[in-house]
Amino acid sequence: NQSNLDWLIQEKTVSGDGHAFSVVGNIGSVDEAREVIRKGGEGIGLFRTEFLFMEKKRLPLEDEQFEAYKTVLQAMEGKPVIVRTIDIGGDKELPYLHLSKEMNPFLGFRGIRFCLGEQTILRTQLRALLRASAFGNLKIMFPMVAVIEEFRQGKAMFEEEKRKLVEEGITVGNIELGMMVEIPSTALMVESFAKEADFFSIGTNDLIQYTLAADRMNEQVSYLYQPYHPAILRLIKRVIDYAHQEGKWVSICGDMAENKVAIPLLVGMGLDEFSVHSSSIINTRAHIRDLRMQDIQHMIDKVLNLPNAAEVEQVLENFLNKSD
Ligand code: PEP
Ligand code: MG
Repeated sequence: NQSNLDWLIQEKTVSGDGHAFSVVGNIGSVDEAREVIRKGGEGIGLFRTEFLFMEKKRLPLEDEQFEAYKTVLQAMEGKPVIVRTIDIGGDKELPYLHLSKEMNPFLGFRGIRFCLGEQTILRTQLRALLRASAFGNLKIMFPMVAVIEEFRQGKAMFEEEKRKLVEEGITVGNIELGMMVEIPSTALMVESFAKEADFFSIGTNDLIQYTLAADRMNEQVSYLYQPYHPAILRLIKRVIDYAHQEGKWVSICGDMAENKVAIPLLVGMGLDEFSVHSSSIINTRAHIRDLRMQDIQHMIDKVLNLPNAAEVEQVLENFLNKSD
């Protein structure tokens, strides 16, 4: 109940035993940024920029994008804003680009694959972002990275556009460059990525569908779409552990971050940031404050070694009921 928890907006998000977390919002439009602030968000953990590309019948111009990013950064008043470069393809189409039909769109030309294929689109977006970075605390991440070459190529383009703008005399902020972890290969190779990326944001919506090979849009296989499956939890844990070894931080921006049953486990694993829908921000913050990492840690090895999602869910629900 939001009104009872409004006092939390001014507080830091700290667990009952003193560990700091951050709870930020997911947005898909400029207006939603203001909603995140109203609802007590400590920043934006995922700005889905696809809407900018879908609201018109043509590609948005660099200046149009610049204005949108600048407005969001200013609205957030110095709080961190993670903008995800365009993640088109899969379930998100752009009719005016007339891309060829694919047999398996979720395994096809989407996310960073699309951006590396259509380089002017990514370069334009990066330029708009770099220019906007002077107006707030901007971080950028690439979606759907499967192999390290993709991150390196995206980063090289980012550095090139940055150099060009600086040569033109334009002020550019200090921007952390991260990536989404939403493909199992990336989670399994995170040790390497952690040497090159500044941060990670786990996209559990896609990570679950790719790990269990269950289309997130297909009702007939939705029973296999299992957030609590130990395979998913093991991937999440190794991303957090190896990222931390390299001094990097980890967010989750998929729906799992606002799942009341999953949150204790994620807190116990030391997830740094929870990026959730604005309507879930305050409850997520309240929930974290009620937890103590030290009460949870013993549960982690146990659930990772269970054989299936049902048994994991049982353990997590028991924990929740005991602490209520
Ligand atoms: C995800 O995959 O979890 C994610 C946050 O990205 P999207 O839902 O936009 O694919
Ligand atoms: Mg995704």
